[in-house]
Amino acid sequence: MVILSALLLGAHSQATQVVVLDPGHGGVDGGACWGGLREKNLTLMIAQRVESVLRSRGIRTVMTRRSDRFVPLYARAALANGFRSAVLISIHCNADPQHEARGIETFYTGSSGYRLARSIHTRLDHRTSTPNRGVKRKGFSVLLNTRGAAALVECGFMTSRSERMLLATAAYQQRIARAIADGITASIR
Ligand SMILES: [Zn+2]
Repeated sequence: MVILSALLLGAHSQATQVVVLDPGHGGVDGGACWGGLREKNLTLMIAQRVESVLRSRGIRTVMTRRSDRFVPLYARAALANGFRSAVLISIHCNADPQHEARGIETFYTGSSGYRLARSIHTRLDHRTSTPNRGVKRKGFSVLLNTRGAAALVECGFMTSRSERMLLATAAYQQRIARAIADGITASIR
């Protein structure tokens, strides 16, 4: 009976580990827009790819949006907070008005967020040849308001012509998505 309860508990706790994927921006909030590309579309495409990889591994996922619609920041965190055990990964693409910056950077707030951010960032760094801008602490609203571990990934600079051209390709989106998914998988298992 004890063993059975333990087994049930184990199965239950695994089943409630939810990965909330948060494609940045959406709807009237387009995010950055350069060279005909919109951040809101890139983030959705990358997040959907991350979701496919995670689901193929049997990991339960939820998306804060699945289409081009506006979702307030508080609602994104609230969705994650509605689960007993959830991590949130917010996906964005960067912009530098000076058009000089390139590279990936990953943000967090708390210590559990740091472990998640570092796990994702290390893999992104291995899979890309773009500059590593590091794992950084920053109080983004969606991170501060999420109760569980949360990280925000900036997948590259849309203001860099070379990086923008890469980000527009399915192959690069998939490479980034796989790195993010690997980082999440390693962090939650
Ligand atoms: Zn953004």
